[in-house]
Amino acid sequence: MTRSDHDQIMFKPELKVQPGAVRKPNDCWHVLIVDDDDEVHHVTRLALSRLTVLGRPLQLHHASSAAECLKTLATLDDLAVILIDVVMESEDAGLKAVRHIREIMERHEVRIILRTGQPGYAPEESVVREYDINDYKTKSELTHNTLTTVMISSIRSYQQIRTINQNRLGLQKIISAGASLMEQHSLHEFSEGVITQISSLLGLRAEGLLCAHAKLDDEESEEDVYIMGAAGSYAPYIRHKLDGIEDAHIARLIHTCLQQKQHIYTDDESVLYLGNEHHKAAVYLQTRCTVSEQDKALLQVFLNNIAIGYENVSLFQQLRNTAYIDPLTRLANRNEFTRLLETQQDCHVAPQVAVLIDIDHFSDVNDGLGQEIGNELLVAVASRLKTAFGDSGVVARVDADVFGVIGEEFNLTPQSILALFESPFSTRDQVLTINASIGIGRLRELGDHGLTMLKRVYIALNSAKKENTRHFEYYARAMEEEKEQRLQLIRQLRIDFALQKLRIWYQPQYDLKTRRIVSLEALLRWPQADGSFIPPGVFIPIAEYSGLILSIGAWVLESVCAQIAMFKTAGIKDMRIAVNVSMPQFRSPQFVSQVAHAMKRHGVTGGELELEITESVLMDDPEAIILCLTRLKALGVRISIDDFGTGYSSLSYLRRLPLDKMKVDRSFVRDLGKQDGGIIAETIVRLGENLGLVTIAEGVETAEQEQMMIAMGCREAQGYYFARPMPLEDLSDLLQTKH
Ligand code: C2E
Ligand code: CA
Ligand code: CA
Repeated sequence: MTRSDHDQIMFKPELKVQPGAVRKPNDCWHVLIVDDDDEVHHVTRLALSRLTVLGRPLQLHHASSAAECLKTLATLDDLAVILIDVVMESEDAGLKAVRHIREIMERHEVRIILRTGQPGYAPEESVVREYDINDYKTKSELTHNTLTTVMISSIRSYQQIRTINQNRLGLQKIISAGASLMEQHSLHEFSEGVITQISSLLGLRAEGLLCAHAKLDDEESEEDVYIMGAAGSYAPYIRHKLDGIEDAHIARLIHTCLQQKQHIYTDDESVLYLGNEHHKAAVYLQTRCTVSEQDKALLQVFLNNIAIGYENVSLFQQLRNTAYIDPLTRLANRNEFTRLLETQQDCHVAPQVAVLIDIDHFSDVNDGLGQEIGNELLVAVASRLKTAFGDSGVVARVDADVFGVIGEEFNLTPQSILALFESPFSTRDQVLTINASIGIGRLRELGDHGLTMLKRVYIALNSAKKENTRHFEYYARAMEEEKEQRLQLIRQLRIDFALQKLRIWYQPQYDLKTRRIVSLEALLRWPQADGSFIPPGVFIPIAEYSGLILSIGAWVLESVCAQIAMFKTAGIKDMRIAVNVSMPQFRSPQFVSQVAHAMKRHGVTGGELELEITESVLMDDPEAIILCLTRLKALGVRISIDDFGTGYSSLSYLRRLPLDKMKVDRSFVRDLGKQDGGIIAETIVRLGENLGLVTIAEGVETAEQEQMMIAMGCREAQGYYFARPMPLEDLSDLLQTKH
């Protein structure tokens, strides 16, 4: 045989294994023959060429030295058997190669058959064991028959070792996968993990989805199957309804799997059932080939292993708001809405807006007609919103009486939304007309973090709620700055109040006949480091908003009662002081007893303390107000209705209130000089007289205004013309002369 012949035998072109070349695994058994004798290669080829083992043919590879053997081996990772000569380059070249294969290359699966020319070169038995040599034969022993028998048994044992190792690997994966899955607390992460792990067990790219019933109540309908987790091209479907998936065939397979509680294997897909009597889920995988029995067994072990984990995660998830759905309306809930805010902006070309719709006075419906009607109303609103905007966008219930919608800007306009509230909503036995306030934010202006985005639309909503004329507002960055400033102001007010920096100034109220001071109005002042004051018109509303007014108001009451006591000890008699009371104070159930205690502590008696309550506060909750005022009157407190004329109280209601005094709002006094300006002031004064109340003009700044008020029959006046609000120190002189 020439050298070139030799080359041909050894490296037939089709046998060359190029790195990276794709070879289908396991479609033949790779066998490497290593011998420096060409004749042996030839004979072995003849003997083995037709052999098939376990249904597969052999693919022979040839090497003529130990060195070549190792090189070839490195390119074949599924080599089944090496048939190797002991004596080649050196007397034990074959044995050295074997040691290298086992110890250095750590190739433990490949089976090795040693052969020698002479019996004297047989290796020690210990070597045979140590290097896991399958068989040892002298060349003369290796007849055609024995060669095939040895080959068959070696390939079989290679196959078994392979399987065991693969299983072990699989089991190891199962154990570690199971362990990492147990740590997942969210169903979505868990589901994605399951798909990834199963794919990796099967050696696939992760491509599939996990579906489960979003259990909202005890009955499950097919519709309620949601995609809890997905990997690969199915990822966009996460949290969608299964029936929303484009491929109806997949949905069908999954429904069948869930109904029959059984795995389904087709030629290129697998649907695995996962669950117990309480929880069921199905894992759909695009396997693209039939799954072997061995892999099925492995999968079963895996599924058993994670079933408990799944149950835990499901329970956990149910606790944390199942499947992102509001159980009452079946709309997306706040969590889901927040998440969608983040994701929606990327997947649309047309400008998107997020809208929050707040039902005005919903608590009245709930309190007045019962929660059941309230719920029915919410369901009716939900369904109207869904019909109008559900196809093109997302509709959610974000709070008890707040709905959220995300959609295209041209579609979701204040007009289109408000139009939905023009006709009444029907519940089982009520027809209810409701109004809504609307906050709108353009997604691109809201930032990119879901919670921040939601917060910003809420800012717009709150601003819309304050707006009386129109019922909507778009989010603008300036609102937030304003809000930030307000927050900063509240923080500072809280600190300064705690540091006792707030002051009470007093403005005298005069009797117009005697021109003497009959009482004082206590007015808060918030001094700043630079000597200026933040006006109460600015900080009182935020103190009301933040609730701080409760403690501040209590302190004012206390201080004023103390002041009344001090006047008395100083010999200043009959000096009444009026205190302004805010809505939150008045609503507080402790308010009356608070007043009573402050009076008692300082020995304040009837007629010395007056409370100024604005007309708008008095209109809040008639029955409660009447009760509260009656109790205050019983303590001897005088009640004055402040800013009169700016609210809309009805005469019949006013008659029912135990009032003492009516303050004509400053704006009417200011208008006195104008044409017809006096008419309202005059009407108010007459009304006061008719109700038997003392009338007092606020904000009198000129002698002319004073004269006009006197002419109308107004009894008292307060204003810069007489005296400005001032600290107590400045007041004493005035009190000496004018009281
Ligand atoms: P208000 O109860 O209507 O108080 C009268 C306001 O008119 C005071 O403003 C007073 O300084 C101002 N004023 C008095 N005479 C004249 C005048 O001739 N011309 C003009 N242009 N203004 C005059 P102030 O002190 O800035 O208080 C504003 C509001 O803050 C008060 O309106 C009251 O609603 C609230 N406020 C003040 N102190 C308290 C308080 O202790 N508790 C509560 N809840 N509210 C308070
Ligand atoms: Ca007042
Ligand atoms: Ca006033």
